[in-house]
Amino acid sequence: MIFGMRFNGKIMFMEGTIQEIKNKVDIATFIGSFISIKKTGRNYKALCPFHQEKTPSFVISPDRQIWHCFGACQDGGDVIKFLMKWENISFIEALRELADKFGIRLKDVRFEDQEWKRKEKIMRINKLTTDYYEYILHETKYGNTAQEYLRKRGLNEKVIKTFHLGYAPSSWHSLLKFLQKKFTLEDILTSGLVITSEKGTVYDRFRGRLIFPIKDARSNVIGFSGRLLEDKAKEAKYINTPETLLYHKRESLYAIDIAKDQIKKQNNVYIVEGEFDVLSPFQIGIGNIVAIKGSALTREQLMLLKRYTNKITLALDSDVAGEEAMKKGIEEAEDLEFDVDVVVFDYAKDPDEAARRDPTLFKKGIKDPIPFYDFIIQILVKKFPQDNPYNKKQIANTAVFFITKIKNPIVKSHYVKKLATLLDVSESSIESLLRLTNRKKERKFILSSQPKYSHMRREDIIQKYLLSLLFQSANPYKFVDEYFKLFSIEDFSLPSLKKLYHYFTDFRKSNKEFHLDYFIKTIPQELHPVFDEIYLMASLDNEFKNEKIEKLIYEIKRYSLKYRIAQILSSESSEKKETENSLRLMGKELTRVEKMIVAL
Ligand SMILES: [Zn+2]
Repeated sequence: MIFGMRFNGKIMFMEGTIQEIKNKVDIATFIGSFISIKKTGRNYKALCPFHQEKTPSFVISPDRQIWHCFGACQDGGDVIKFLMKWENISFIEALRELADKFGIRLKDVRFEDQEWKRKEKIMRINKLTTDYYEYILHETKYGNTAQEYLRKRGLNEKVIKTFHLGYAPSSWHSLLKFLQKKFTLEDILTSGLVITSEKGTVYDRFRGRLIFPIKDARSNVIGFSGRLLEDKAKEAKYINTPETLLYHKRESLYAIDIAKDQIKKQNNVYIVEGEFDVLSPFQIGIGNIVAIKGSALTREQLMLLKRYTNKITLALDSDVAGEEAMKKGIEEAEDLEFDVDVVVFDYAKDPDEAARRDPTLFKKGIKDPIPFYDFIIQILVKKFPQDNPYNKKQIANTAVFFITKIKNPIVKSHYVKKLATLLDVSESSIESLLRLTNRKKERKFILSSQPKYSHMRREDIIQKYLLSLLFQSANPYKFVDEYFKLFSIEDFSLPSLKKLYHYFTDFRKSNKEFHLDYFIKTIPQELHPVFDEIYLMASLDNEFKNEKIEKLIYEIKRYSLKYRIAQILSSESSEKKETENSLRLMGKELTRVEKMIVAL
């Protein structure tokens, strides 16, 4: 079946192609290749990769070929939507990637996704710029000083070419003139490669600088970093592409495109602070290494790394400023349940120098990291060296803040003892400080982790849950006969659920057996998201899991009766006698239902 369809008001595509992708790609296998998933009944569940959580609220249904996050995201969809979110890409990009991967031809796809078009244009400008700067570095005399500089820093040709380093000549307009042969000024401006002065003249951003192209995990050049060859008092040593449609500093990791496979393979990533701190270790064989742009490790960067590993090793500059900057990222890393280790090279000022000065020692050093907590204690002792009560308090307060996060009781106790010995105080004093910090933290935790569905009434959630059980049961008709005897369609408080149940009873009238795929076809498109969410809900642990189904049904009945009684009481009915009669009946029924709830 091939027909055109409007998407987002902008994109035209062929439903047939999308269907072909969905038929070819099994959603559970596909998502399972990115995150670990666990079978539960007919569905799979997992820790949601799109928000931080400790109990799984991410469900995948192979029957429906959909996923849904019942946690903070409250979002879901098909395999295309998953890839869009995972790679942070547009619908068309995801479609293309899937089609590529599974050998489906996309020739019929026409689209007009304006944002994607603009992004793609910046990518093309960036790619051309990379080639241009590379050419200047390798093929022209303007690149000589930069070549010499790189040689002095000990980098070989292979590394320089692998990372596509380049050189921006000391000229105000050379790149601009070059790009204008192929692109309009308007487009070039969106790339951030040129700057408009106050007087309105446009000039190159990078001048007389060594150029490092910054790529995303899929090897698109998203921006650039430029370094001066010699320190000048007036100019910044490094400048970067400003925030553009494509480049977001918080999300980018230098060398992720080259390092990602090694990170996955070794289940560990070394995080450093600068481009050269990536290149020199890379040259001596360390492939699982990336640099953060800017001084702090962000949540976005950690989320990106979480796709490949759950272990990070910080390779820090030896100055305290670097250590302080890293500390901020640690809370996020703990939050996302990374194991965090630290390597420090005390014989050099940064990983670049350390790798160049003594490759053997460097390789030994990075294989022997210290746990993050030891590192924290070390820098605190360095920061507050004097042996007096005030310094001890400072050290203890900060160290304890991190120690409270340790889950394993043996490890925790190890650090309590260590800290007590170091400060020459009793272990119990450290423990009482831990309890104090914990109490503060718990209060914060309760505030930040509102239960899912907290915005919904209990009766509404129960109704969703009951319908979820119904549709997931091996035999929905039998389920209804067994449990829904007491139940009528009026008892649903949410119109969407009422409708869904209505379609179900209708379906039953004309179908001897329940068949999920046929049933889906009978419900209107706008109810599909409601159905999908309900269908997956029962796969999760929730507050009703241990309650008897009958009891939950009586609860719904009770809500429904109370609601109807309240409605009658508030309306001014002319048929007084009839009203009284039905009120009496409902009251009686309510008493019976209340009794049943207590009895069950
Ligand atoms: Zn989520």
